[in-house]
Amino acid sequence: MTDRERLLFKFELETPETGNPDDETCLRAEVPPGDLDKIVFGGQAFHFVSPFVVEARARWADEDLEVTVRVSAVLSSPCSRCLEPSRIEILEDFLYLYSLRDKEPSEEDALEEDFRVVRIESWRRFMDITDQVWESLILSLPLKVLCSPGCRGLCPRCGKPLNGESCGCGGEETDPRLEKLAGIKIEDPSE
Ligand SMILES: [Zn+2]
Ligand SMILES: [Zn+2]
Repeated sequence: MTDRERLLFKFELETPETGNPDDETCLRAEVPPGDLDKIVFGGQAFHFVSPFVVEARARWADEDLEVTVRVSAVLSSPCSRCLEPSRIEILEDFLYLYSLRDKEPSEEDALEEDFRVVRIESWRRFMDITDQVWESLILSLPLKVLCSPGCRGLCPRCGKPLNGESCGCGGEETDPRLEKLAGIKIEDPSE
């Protein structure tokens, strides 16, 4: 996703009726993969295979607005070991508290309640939650992409993937205890 693409999307959620703790508002938005091709995070590209679905709900919690943001999508990204496209399904809920007041959650609160405070200037009929939607998406992405937990990666000698049949060059038959050292180049004094 580029900055220009980012500007094309705006997620807005209606504010519940003032002073009514029982009123709940919702938003459901689907961004088709044709509109949002990929998101790049930490140098890793994640391509959208399914629509990016955003579901949000808002409800008053005393004077603050409690907003749950649920993001879901199916993405494809190259495995960090073998580079094969890997399927990633995300489905995560994030809790935000929109507040007019400066809130420094006490250390105890921060540990017990897993929410983020968004300081706003005023209440509007529709709240712009776009930044929180993108933040939720980024927080849902895996830090390391693996096609399977035991992916064997690429042969250090010929560069072919080792998950299927053997590459045949013999380079993959390394002692697994030495695998950690595979990335280290040792200079051969005879050269
Ligand atoms: Zn892999
Ligand atoms: Zn090989």
